[in-house]
Amino acid sequence: MSRYTGPSCKKCRKLGCKLFLKGAKCYSNCVMDKLASVKKGRGMQRRQKLSEYAVRLHEKQKARFISGMNETAFANLFGKATKATGQTGLQFLKYLETRLDNIVKRVGFATSTRTARQLVLHGHIKVNDKVVNIPSYEVQVGDRISIDAKLAGSVAVKQGLEDTEKRSLRPSFIQYDASKNTATLLRWPDRSESSYPVNEQLIVEHYSK
Ligand code: SF4
Repeated sequence: MSRYTGPSCKKCRKLGCKLFLKGAKCYSNCVMDKLASVKKGRGMQRRQKLSEYAVRLHEKQKARFISGMNETAFANLFGKATKATGQTGLQFLKYLETRLDNIVKRVGFATSTRTARQLVLHGHIKVNDKVVNIPSYEVQVGDRISIDAKLAGSVAVKQGLEDTEKRSLRPSFIQYDASKNTATLLRWPDRSESSYPVNEQLIVEHYSK
């Protein structure tokens, strides 16, 4: 299946919510915020009511767009969650949350999943001192994630780290050591700490139909 290469903001507009796909711009210059204020000003009605199927599909798409994964990889990861012990929805969120590209974003080395993915693919990220260039790599508790020293001094990475701290976006399950440009996954994330603002049960229902 081909990858979507169009504007990221179109995905947010389609689903009617902010997916934070463009990093800092999502906080300062978001088309969804502008639309919301225009609609408020004109007293416009909310969107048309969706069918049950559409609601479940939208929830799945929301999570998939945030992850930046294609349909097949996303469905495969869900399939893996169904085989794991525990609640499928929670297990799926855990897998999404602890993918290497997502952890790189949550540390603050990148401001969006797309940029984090680029950092990983280009070999700038190490796990336990070894280069890992697989965005879907499953980070384990105790793993140390670092960025190569040259890149750590770049304006983009510094800005990402600053923004993450300023907005308190780094969760407590990640410990960051600025002197070594290294982050450690301290424990598995709780549901409330997930960066996926989705109803995981609707995703489970979507794939069960
Ligand atoms: Fe675009 Fe980000 Fe706003 Fe979504 S949240 S519409 S990606 S600026």
